[in-house]
Amino acid sequence: MKTILVLHTGGTIAMSEDQTTGKVAPNSENPLLHQGHLFEKDANLVVEDIFQLPSPHMTPREMLLLKQRIEEAILNEGVDGVIVTHGTDTLEETAYFLDITLDHQVPIIMTGAMRSSNEIGSDGLYNFQSAVWVATSEEAKNKGVLVVMNDEIHTSRYVTKTHTTNVATFRTPTFGPIGLIAKNKVLFFQELIEIEKFDIATVDKNVYLLKAFAGMDSTLLEALNTPATDGLVIEALGAGNLPPATLPALRQLLDNNIPIVLVSRCFNGVAQDVYDYAGGGKRLKEMGIIFTNGLTGPKARIKLLVALNATTNHDELEKYF
Ligand code: ASP
Repeated sequence: MKTILVLHTGGTIAMSEDQTTGKVAPNSENPLLHQGHLFEKDANLVVEDIFQLPSPHMTPREMLLLKQRIEEAILNEGVDGVIVTHGTDTLEETAYFLDITLDHQVPIIMTGAMRSSNEIGSDGLYNFQSAVWVATSEEAKNKGVLVVMNDEIHTSRYVTKTHTTNVATFRTPTFGPIGLIAKNKVLFFQELIEIEKFDIATVDKNVYLLKAFAGMDSTLLEALNTPATDGLVIEALGAGNLPPATLPALRQLLDNNIPIVLVSRCFNGVAQDVYDYAGGGKRLKEMGIIFTNGLTGPKARIKLLVALNATTNHDELEKYF
């Protein structure tokens, strides 16, 4: 029987609803800790309550600690798979961080819940069961960190939370999930073409994320033009364009060697250097702004944070993206 390390980090999956007020809050003890017996036939679960955090409290520091704990378990404790339970708000950022910093074949699965443990139709235990099945599946090996929720298996690179409350919140725009859980069967039907890995020991860079809007000027960009800023990601308009009033501040940031990475604020599709007008993508790229494809703003920010650990050289950063 396979041994699976389960790392609980908090989130709704570990919370309960106050039946009078409807407010959802953390418990003194994670309710999933009492459900281990349900999976005795599937796996030998080694369970640790590593954090008890709502996921808006998660920072790259906790992500790095998780990475180090998982690495230790794979290298020195011989676990066959890992499950991380996590709040859904920032689950995709932790998943992508682990995906690009852990270089191992064993299945690493992240899951969570949209309804807390005592709500009618609570999805936590169900998602956890799916995560156990995927974590013990031979086919889940060598696929990076996978997000398992609501009977679907997504890559951490492209998955995103799309709904504030619906249990079908995790989606992979443009590409779709790579697998399904159909009753008790785990079925994969797609694969990522290329897997990226970075060796990382620290996460102490300041990387910011801004969203572009019609009429945007230089104010926010100027505020970020300080020696404390190590990098910036902008969710640009459409295929990757910005209002012309942002250009002077963008130039100053680039002159100060602050790397700027551009993604699209569109929910589907990729950013491209197509348009040749003031603020158009072609001109932004010529200025030295780095384009990236398919990543959301929060994930491009994680990638820049991690990549800056390896290099601050513009050309190398561009190659990574
Ligand atoms: N706000 C919660 C969190 O991210 C939502 C959830 O767990 O789904 O911790």
